[in-house]
Amino acid sequence: MTVGVLALQGAFREHEEMLHRMGVATRQVRLPRDLAEVDRLIIPGGESTTIGKLLVMYELLTPLRERILAGMPVWGTCAGAILMARRIVDGRPDQPALNVMDIEARRNAFGSQLDSFEAEVDVTDIDHPFHTVFIRAPILEKPGEQCRVLATLPDGRIVAARQAHMLATSFHPELTNDSSIHELFLSF
Ligand code: GLN
Repeated sequence: MTVGVLALQGAFREHEEMLHRMGVATRQVRLPRDLAEVDRLIIPGGESTTIGKLLVMYELLTPLRERILAGMPVWGTCAGAILMARRIVDGRPDQPALNVMDIEARRNAFGSQLDSFEAEVDVTDIDHPFHTVFIRAPILEKPGEQCRVLATLPDGRIVAARQAHMLATSFHPELTNDSSIHELFLSF
């Protein structure tokens, strides 16, 4: 199994390092020919408007969307989750996106007052509280019927969801030492 990590912008190295510690082979995806070589893909955190523009520039947006719709497992962290959502709330009007997952993403939902924070969160199918790191994070909203909520903050706001082979997290598991969400994704 080769796990692709979209390497256009953002925290892709941290995902690669986590996967290497787990003994999993990775490949950086920048071009359509890289995408053809991978079995699954992580879309990292970063800046969703920039990653979206680069997806268009590198002619990856359409082939990536088609692979996901054909069933390739995909996991978006933070900006990656925003790119996967069916609708982006508070996005840029011209922001390119994949629109593959039946959920909305509200960008920068915690405002500038609370740019970054950490919390222990219960995640479905993970047997211990997960240490979450949020950085200018989105909140996930209005999940469709096919979408299963995996984690919420104590106030009920959704921070992780799964729809079949698609996983979205508002937070950054690659910035912790806990590989359990990476393991969850590899089980898809
Ligand atoms: N605020 C960023 C965006 O809109 C996401 C931040 C992140 O990925 N850490 O894309």
